Amino acid sequence: NHRITLAERPVNRPVQPTDFRLEEAPIPVPATGEVLLRTLYLSLDPYMRGRMSEAKSYAQPVQIGEVMIGETVSEVVASNDPTFVPGDTVLGRTGWQEYAALPAKGLIKVDGKAAPLSYYLGVLGMPGMTGYFALLDIGQPKPGETVLVSAAAGAVGQVVGQIAKLKGCRVIGIAGGADKCAYVTKDLGFDAAIDYRGKDATALSAEIAALAPNGVDVYFDNVGGAIHDAAMMNVALRARIIICGAVAIYDKLETQDTGARWMRTILAKRARMEGFLVFDYDPRRAEFLADMSAWLRGGLVHYREDVTEGLARAPEAFIGMLAGKNLGKQLIHVADP
Ligand code: NDP
Repeated sequence: NHRITLAERPVNRPVQPTDFRLEEAPIPVPATGEVLLRTLYLSLDPYMRGRMSEAKSYAQPVQIGEVMIGETVSEVVASNDPTFVPGDTVLGRTGWQEYAALPAKGLIKVDGKAAPLSYYLGVLGMPGMTGYFALLDIGQPKPGETVLVSAAAGAVGQVVGQIAKLKGCRVIGIAGGADKCAYVTKDLGFDAAIDYRGKDATALSAEIAALAPNGVDVYFDNVGGAIHDAAMMNVALRARIIICGAVAIYDKLETQDTGARWMRTILAKRARMEGFLVFDYDPRRAEFLADMSAWLRGGLVHYREDVTEGLARAPEAFIGMLAGKNLGKQLIHVADP
């Protein structure tokens, strides 16, 4: 049973390979009410950077020596609970390891025939649900409005832009590099894309202004930093700004500048800025699954994954994702069913 633990906390610096340790541990034995799970896919998500840190947050940090947390799709190998039988596939929080014994309560059965199993960690899982509820509930996009989304080619961003198109909006994506910009415009149907690499907030703001002369009605913020500033320079009257993530500043989590420098803009534009946390929407998962499954079946939503082979490469893939090396949802393929 290989597993990856937290060896060291990155403090105000990028994550590095030596922050993790690859270990071998015995395969756990499930207690009563527990099942033994074998990981098939591990999801790598930007929030995990937050869990490596002791900076104050909405969740407890991973302790040094503990297995890195994470959602997985796993196969039930043995079951001490009547709800599951060996061969079932489930969504669970087993972390960065090959085997785990978890209470059956809290696991969600997933159907590999209805969709590829990996989709339950992406477009049909946490990132998809984030894009769906944050855009629709907080963003309230209306036909003809302009929606701007950052980290546009990522797991959340690609979903946001496509749903905004389905709602009749004009969609501008911001992403790093020509490939990602081509992906969102050519493959996903966004109206325009801006490559932010090597540009400061002023230059980015000018590009946004040229593409959205009447301003941005909905800004879906996945990154914070200079892109956030550029977007704020272009908000339209009564704009909605969704604070979903701040991956641009995750390397400086411990000294995060939360300066309220956009207060005057928010006031003058009577704009609304709201934070979003996907856990709040757990009770509404069925609503999301019904819409998203239908869109996928109907070919209205496309979805791309970036799959790295082997658990041992999880640190490298995670560090790569935080630097934008992924195109689409970052996953680790650990084993086949
Ligand atoms: P992505 O698949 O978008 O991967 C992260 C991306 O961030 C990279 O591909 C990179 O894309 C971009 N990025 C990295 N550094 C920078 C930078 N300095 N400036 C701008 N962009 C950068 O990840 P997800 O779709 O899973 O997550 C997107 C955001 O949503 C994250 O901030 C995450 O924390 C947040 N999130 C929030 C949730 C919530 O409940 N609030 C739930 C799920 C996700 P590029 O090459 O374009 O720079």
